[in-house]
Amino acid sequence: MEGKHYINGEWSTAGDGVINVMNPATGEQVGTVPNGGEDEATQAIEAAAAAFPEWSKTTAYHRSELLMKWHDLLMENKQEVAEIMTKEMGKPLAESIGEIEYSAAFISWFAEEGKRVYGRTVPASKEGKRIQVIKQPVGVVVSITPWNFPAAMMARKMAPALAAGCSFVAKPAKLTPLTAVRIYELAEEAGFPKGVINMVTGSASKIGKVFTSHPSVRKLTFTGSTEIGKELMKQSSETMLNLSLELGGHAPIIVLDDANIEEAVKGVVASKFRNAGQTCVCGNRIYVQESIVEEFSRKLQEAASDLKVGNGLDEGVQIGPLVDKDGYEKVAEHVKDAVDKGAKVLVGGDGKAENDSYFYNPTVLLNANSDMLVMNEETFGPVAPIMTFKTDEEAVKLANDTRFGLAAYFFTDSMTRGTYIAENLDYGIVGWNDGLPSAAQAPFGGMKESGIGREGGQEGLEAFLETKYISIQL
Ligand code: NAP
Repeated sequence: MEGKHYINGEWSTAGDGVINVMNPATGEQVGTVPNGGEDEATQAIEAAAAAFPEWSKTTAYHRSELLMKWHDLLMENKQEVAEIMTKEMGKPLAESIGEIEYSAAFISWFAEEGKRVYGRTVPASKEGKRIQVIKQPVGVVVSITPWNFPAAMMARKMAPALAAGCSFVAKPAKLTPLTAVRIYELAEEAGFPKGVINMVTGSASKIGKVFTSHPSVRKLTFTGSTEIGKELMKQSSETMLNLSLELGGHAPIIVLDDANIEEAVKGVVASKFRNAGQTCVCGNRIYVQESIVEEFSRKLQEAASDLKVGNGLDEGVQIGPLVDKDGYEKVAEHVKDAVDKGAKVLVGGDGKAENDSYFYNPTVLLNANSDMLVMNEETFGPVAPIMTFKTDEEAVKLANDTRFGLAAYFFTDSMTRGTYIAENLDYGIVGWNDGLPSAAQAPFGGMKESGIGREGGQEGLEAFLETKYISIQL
């Protein structure tokens, strides 16, 4: 597949050569995209700036119709788009189809929610005064997204931005740009006017510099690592960009002694092993109450042993490859470090890296402790380390002992204990007996170094709106 930029309603291959897109399951080339830079980013921003005045004046109903056409096209073509995703990213096909459906859910949610951008009238303290508050689209939005959810991370920015009346420029990740290209083809077919949606592929640092310095850009919405998020935040200070940052996580999972252990194991498998552990919200460290650790770890070991590893396009595969060599080496390093510091491997603990493909087996580690890398850094792989705790207070303390604050999970059937834990976890997303809490209608995002802002729900639309106060003296 030959991917192209989409700028001002035209497809273009401009740039310094191409970037090869590889299949991490086979090491084969899937396609190419142009290696764009400053010129393409500037052209895309200028096209979005030119389209903004007219687009922002269209009605929310009109924008909703276009969004729904795009939603329908995406759903009609979900198998094909999902296959592109699995080929360039590696996740099992069923998960890729799930991601397309999840992306489409954001589009339909915001197509509706855009009709409910209300202002308000506030009683004034002086006679003859009227106070109005109105909401307006923030302006030209630029977006930078990662490889681990090539469709959903872009859709949950693009749909609310367009619904709010903003024009948009996307930069997908270099490892997975082809899914984005196909989604843009479908958006073009849906009929968005020239310049309203644009996409550039290529050098992240060059495009990022233009995104953060061009005077026409009003908002940067970024999903990716905390390290790059901080760098972009610094760069954005010059133009005082409105920022949304969805960054890294290090999710704890707490299993209390009154939990339904079968359900807790299912929840942990869903949270930990989805996308081969390459998600920002996946459980990274598991705290289990001492009295149930034996039963819980045996059942988790059995469940992990049953997971089928392989090429995501093959029938029944549940764990695809890791996205690249760096990802594989990080996972192997975390496991080695844990074993060196006393962890016991219950299952897995190894992988296969050959011919530019990188498979790591689902791994369960027992006797984890707080000194291990795996208990302190994002692993981004299928590794489940188990550490024990004695009291609920200790579990919360261990869970909060991190600079991250994206997602946390816990399992208990006690309302009292659960309420205590939910209210004391310093995390933006909390799953209570739920390993998969993400949903288009709910606000998703992190505290602390996991970011700023929320995506999804009412908050996800608010992120693309400015508040204007009009004071009228009659
Ligand atoms: P990353 O290295 O930060 O890259 C993310 C995006 O930033 C990519 O498009 C990348 O482009 C771009 N980028 C890299 N350097 C840049 C620069 N100097 N200027 C501008 N853009 C730059 O992260 P990743 O490895 O792709 O993704 C994994 C991370 O994303 C994890 O930390 C994960 O937790 C986080 N994540 C967070 C959420 C959330 O909602 N909070 C969701 C998913 C993932 P290239 O690919 O072209 O280099």
